Amino acid sequence: MRSWTRAELEGLDREDPLAGFRSRFHLPAGVVYLDGNSLGALPVDTPARVARAVQAEWGEGLIRSWNDAGWIDQPARVGDKLARLLGAAPGSVMVADSTSINLFKLLGAALALRPGRRRIVSEAGNFPTDLYVAQGLAALLGQGHRVDAVASEALADTLDDQTAVLLLTHVNYRSGRMHDMAALTRAAHAAGALVLWDLAHSAGAVPLNLARDGVDFAVGCGYKFLNGGPGAPAFLYVAPVWQDHLQLPLAGWMGHADPFAFQADYRPASGVQAAQIGTPAVLSLTALEVGVDLALEVDPRALRAKSLRLSELLIDLVAQRCAGLELVLASPVAGEQRGSQVSFLHPAAYPVMQALIAQGVIGDYRAPDILRFGITPLYLRHVDIWDAVEVLEAVLRSGSFRDPRHARGGKVT
Ligand SMILES: *Cc1c(COP(=O)(O)O)cnc(C)c1O
Repeated sequence: MRSWTRAELEGLDREDPLAGFRSRFHLPAGVVYLDGNSLGALPVDTPARVARAVQAEWGEGLIRSWNDAGWIDQPARVGDKLARLLGAAPGSVMVADSTSINLFKLLGAALALRPGRRRIVSEAGNFPTDLYVAQGLAALLGQGHRVDAVASEALADTLDDQTAVLLLTHVNYRSGRMHDMAALTRAAHAAGALVLWDLAHSAGAVPLNLARDGVDFAVGCGYKFLNGGPGAPAFLYVAPVWQDHLQLPLAGWMGHADPFAFQADYRPASGVQAAQIGTPAVLSLTALEVGVDLALEVDPRALRAKSLRLSELLIDLVAQRCAGLELVLASPVAGEQRGSQVSFLHPAAYPVMQALIAQGVIGDYRAPDILRFGITPLYLRHVDIWDAVEVLEAVLRSGSFRDPRHARGGKVT
């Protein structure tokens, strides 16, 4: 483990090929932002772009803007941009709804493709919404589907001829552990099952190649590493082979083959367009498009290399400076098994994080005992990691986190 000085890290920042991206974001003074995996930072181009959509496109253009400003094609247009980021064919990604709703839609479609099978296999410790959606859909279908959330190590072996779908999140929200997407997809297919991957903590963070890996279905978030803004619309991916066989559990007019014919009977549009249920959230999509455009400017290999470098730096500095202070690394040590976050266990994780936030080091707490730090290489510098660890060490050594004002918090952690 190498030891560093702050001056050496300043040197690394000067040589950083991604350094120029930092000025493309609005970052408040006095803050080290280690929570871009929960809510990405604001790109500096977003306010003007959204203001134009509000004032010119909505204010002046009014309803004409559906055609004249291209609003109606925006979900597919941004979807095609995302497809480049995800290693997916054009026409296989659509922006729509939220991640939870898209999980419902695509899990329903996947189950319909495996009518004789009743198991939905997922991971114990998966993000709760993924499990809740699966449980809710199973109950709604009333056909005896059951959700088996098994331990990570047991996943490959549990797949059998009753498994309809393997429903997994690529990067775990607590530990940051990243699954081998290609291998688990192959294992599911070998058992005759389909895969549905949740890319909430992957898109814009780690290299992806859905086409090469043979992924059937995927969903993901717009407001995390894609910097689309709070509540940004989500996306969904349907492999070309399934696009003509989509039986979605939700049908709406925007997914109709001819919405403005206003026909009484549903006839699905071809491909992923059928998964656009209702009217798209144009203003939010406009903000998301700025984030996606920015992500497309980045060399994904350079992004991953810097993410790993910053993550290792955080792990090493914590080991060197916070030894004996009750922090335990909760993320894999091996870089290839990690997404773009580093988590630590601490028995007083909640007040420790509140104390960090009070000093401008913003990460988040995940119940019951996780301190989570998102690594966003587009706007974090090596010295930010140094400064964050300095604050962390001071908070832990001084015991300032025990101050009662750090014990209370808002609804959102
Ligand atoms: C953040 C996250 C979600 C969020 O879903 P929403 O519908 O946007 O609230 C879903 N799944 C995972 C794995 C997440 O990390």
